[in-house]
Amino acid sequence: MNGKPVAVITGASRGIGRAITLSIAAEKYDIVAIARSLDSEGMETLGVEVEKLGSDFFPIGLDISCTSCHVEVVRNILDRYGRIDLLVNNAGVAPLQRNDLLELTEESYDRVMNINLKGPLFFTQKIAKEMIWLKSKIQDYKPKIIFITSISATIASTNRGEYCISKAGLSMVAQLFAERLTGEGILVYEVRPGIIETNMTARVKEKYDKIIEEGTVRQKRWGLPADVARAVASLARGDWDFSSGAVFEVSGGLNIRSI
Ligand code: NAP
Repeated sequence: MNGKPVAVITGASRGIGRAITLSIAAEKYDIVAIARSLDSEGMETLGVEVEKLGSDFFPIGLDISCTSCHVEVVRNILDRYGRIDLLVNNAGVAPLQRNDLLELTEESYDRVMNINLKGPLFFTQKIAKEMIWLKSKIQDYKPKIIFITSISATIASTNRGEYCISKAGLSMVAQLFAERLTGEGILVYEVRPGIIETNMTARVKEKYDKIIEEGTVRQKRWGLPADVARAVASLARGDWDFSSGAVFEVSGGLNIRSI
């Protein structure tokens, strides 16, 4: 069994997931990095950077929406390390095309919901069961699960309704697991990013530049993957060990309501 804690991070190859992976490696976790494809430059360079930080790196190719693939992935992780201490459910997608709600297609709805909601729900279910079992096997074992949702869990964008629905659902998934697992000694958190500069937002950059400039984001700047990663690292480090079920907004004040 691994002496070091082990973190599983989905969507690790770029953007927010990559920054989270590096911040968690800096907290001395060994890293299981999941992305759909292993053949990306992102994954290769990530492995080098993680190992430079003194952590082991285990990349896994998994489409998170493939729920029948989850059992084998979890078995491979446990065969290698014998433990999972932290799960960060970060993988997610935007709709391929932004369409008005009245033109929302079932195809896009199914794609987004399967990746953003169904996949993380059932992946977490498998890992949570293993964490419960591991509690009796590992001394000083303090497992944690983090869901990366979005301000879209509560803010309506009618040109990407399926994304908002998926993140609102994932927010409830976080509450449900917090309710079910906290008594088992597993802490569960939701981290809710605002507008963050990544591939996902690159194609709507001008629109968001304007929103930020106008002050809707009160801190008047783009969020960076590192902003989200710092919050996740703080949770992983145990700074918030009396806050299971809490929601952490990382949105530069986009969450502030006023009239
Ligand atoms: P990104 O740059 O597009 O990265 C997405 C990551 O998820 C990549 O590593 C991607 O890798 C992986 N991924 C996508 N589909 C996957 C699948 N089916 N199975 C496994 N991995 C998959 O996006 P990001 O902006 O960093 O977003 C990360 C998370 O933060 C998402 O859940 C997103 O909804 C959320 N978020 C983002 C923002 C923002 O403004 N950027 C705001 C709020 C919330 P591969 O494509 O190689 O698989």
